[in-house]
Amino acid sequence: MVLEDIASEIIQNKDYLTELDSVGGDGDHGVNLERGFLKVRSQLEQLKDTDVGSLLTVVGTTILGTVGGATGSLYGAAFIKAGNVCRGKTEIRAQDLPEIFNSCLSVMVELGGAKKGDKTMLDALIPAAEAVAKAAGESSDITYVLNAAAKAAKGGLESTKSMQAKKGRAMYLGDRTLGHYDVGAMSLCFMLESSVKTLKKLG
Ligand code: ADP
Ligand code: MG
Repeated sequence: MVLEDIASEIIQNKDYLTELDSVGGDGDHGVNLERGFLKVRSQLEQLKDTDVGSLLTVVGTTILGTVGGATGSLYGAAFIKAGNVCRGKTEIRAQDLPEIFNSCLSVMVELGGAKKGDKTMLDALIPAAEAVAKAAGESSDITYVLNAAAKAAKGGLESTKSMQAKKGRAMYLGDRTLGHYDVGAMSLCFMLESSVKTLKKLG
């Protein structure tokens, strides 16, 4: 299931995310996300008959309550927003994705005030949301649309290497952040790539 695999992907990559955040930040991103997604994973079994909207709301609330740091507020709010958009739905279709991505993006911009080029997770999410809008106009295959999102996010992640952090704790490190990936953009890519992998497996 997509959310279970996302949680496992993040948990598996905890040390790598922590290492990346140690170079460009304070080294808590991996541990914080691991704590949140362990809790999320432990709740999924009892939520298996819940509609997608409520499920995403529970995930967001759990992340908000357990992760901490910038990521806890931003990812927490994004999942809760996605839950609102998907209220009452029993499945997510390709045509739902543009609204989901755009709403998550808006809430993260509203909360964090970051813009493109600030070396944050938005540098992966902005191109992903653009790619989703385009791909959803071309196909109603959700794997195709999410794959376009994951690819665009990866391109955005690559671009963070040459950026200097302007938001979050990493900004105090100035040009020491140059040459390294932004850790939030990396965790977002893990989530999107994991979703694509799961959907491809499910066929
Ligand atoms: P903290 O900076 O509080 O230690 P984390 O280590 O959990 O938070 O997450 C750091 C990541 O959060 C950054 O790499 C960046 O992607 C993202 N981030 C930080 N501040 C913002 C912001 N204002 N807007 C968007 N993303 C942000
Ligand atoms: Mg940190």
